[in-house]
Amino acid sequence: MLKITPILCRSGKMNNYAYLLTDQASGISAVFDPSEAAPVIDECARQNICPAYILNSHHHFDHVEGNLEVKEKYGAKVMVGAYDENRIPGADVGLADGDVFCLGESKAQIICGKGHTSGHILWYFAADKALFTGDVLFNLSIGGLFEGTVEEMWGSLQRIKKLPDDTLFYPGHEYTLYGLGGIHGPAAERYALKATARLKQGLPAAPFTLGEEKICNPYLACDDLGEFYQMMGS
Ligand code: ZN
Ligand code: FE
Repeated sequence: MLKITPILCRSGKMNNYAYLLTDQASGISAVFDPSEAAPVIDECARQNICPAYILNSHHHFDHVEGNLEVKEKYGAKVMVGAYDENRIPGADVGLADGDVFCLGESKAQIICGKGHTSGHILWYFAADKALFTGDVLFNLSIGGLFEGTVEEMWGSLQRIKKLPDDTLFYPGHEYTLYGLGGIHGPAAERYALKATARLKQGLPAAPFTLGEEKICNPYLACDDLGEFYQMMGS
């Protein structure tokens, strides 16, 4: 089993989430997207953890800026998408679509997540029902197109939609409040209640299941590429 701890970074600015992942069978840990080093190192100290890996979703600075400091402090190995191998600080190993990464006994499948950037990857721990979506999928919204095309983003979202409904997803930013105004209906009301209750306690709104997201996130609910083009403003 995988223990997952969200770590808020760039609080009040970009509100990134890094995640501390521990495979409980082996005690091996990884830091997902260390946006900045200090809050990540604090959480590692609190849990008395020395992460063996850094896992990255994509090369944007707000996901990798803590890489070098965390790598140096713990001797962590930095696992990135193959496309980003030469532009992510400290990158050691490039992974491609379909590759499998083992964190102890917890296995992640790499899924190509092109659209936000050309090298974006999604990390899918099938047995743990956990998907790390970086800047592809947020609560109630999706990432902007920095390098990719509308079709590429559409393709990545269709792959996410094929994953089981009970998969919990962990996004790269806390953007939930921005999306709440634009959704309507009973499922949306349940979503809003759950999200705001968690946020009020100082917790992330995440994780939600892909099943909930497929209904409430307008970009996942959309089944028509033409309509999706319009939503993306092109
Ligand atoms: Zn990004
Ligand atoms: Fe980001």
